[in-house]
Amino acid sequence: MMQAGPSHVAHSDCQYAQSVGGSVEMLQLAQGTALDERLHKPPSWVDAADPIQAFMGRYSAVIAPGWRPLAERTLRTLVLASANCPERRRALSQLCVFGMSASLSFVVCTHADQTVEGILRKARVKSQGICEECGRLARLRQLGEEETATLCPRCAAPALLHHDIWVLLQSLRFLSAVNAPVVLSQIPPLLRPSFVEAALLQADGWDDTESARMTPTHFLVWAEGWRQMAEHISVPIRYLQRSADKRKSGNSGLI
Ligand SMILES: [Zn+2]
Repeated sequence: MMQAGPSHVAHSDCQYAQSVGGSVEMLQLAQGTALDERLHKPPSWVDAADPIQAFMGRYSAVIAPGWRPLAERTLRTLVLASANCPERRRALSQLCVFGMSASLSFVVCTHADQTVEGILRKARVKSQGICEECGRLARLRQLGEEETATLCPRCAAPALLHHDIWVLLQSLRFLSAVNAPVVLSQIPPLLRPSFVEAALLQADGWDDTESARMTPTHFLVWAEGWRQMAEHISVPIRYLQRSADKRKSGNSGLI
């Protein structure tokens, strides 16, 4: 876990020195790359034989599959831009990924120059039009009250349907307690065609879609069908977990 801040580099090295039984004095003696050598600290991804593979391997669980090609292109650009520039390489060695964002968010935890910042900003903006699941054209979508994801229509459909079923199931207790006919306006939008179709089977006088309604008993049977359906809908849970993770970790998403 990395922490942001102007003193981050020294602070994280200090933590590392202590974690391997060293001391702050050792840290003061061993600055820069010498520190890595004396404490046998693993080399930065920038110094790896294959830096792109090293970084992607480390963050494979954090970077969404649809954004991986963009992430690899961005890393390649960063490596090229940092050749023969020790200061920039040092900044990139602190590169990490913000894992709870609806865009590809690289973060440099120490000072980075405008070139590096520009490359990272470009990747973030570009990812906002790329489906995080499959890489197709996409846009930001609201999947619930707090959940957002950048998805194409095809990848968004299961998640949106899953959410509407969840809303339906949440309303069951209230609608059962009211014990009155359930009307169309009480049904989540994606389930309304099914509601109208099922209500038609027991039509008791309504003659237009907006008047569709069900008895409480019929409604519970219909809702149970959707509950069972939800068990078979495959929804990537990464983005559905984001809001829960944010609440748990107090919005600390640096990994
Ligand atoms: Zn997609």
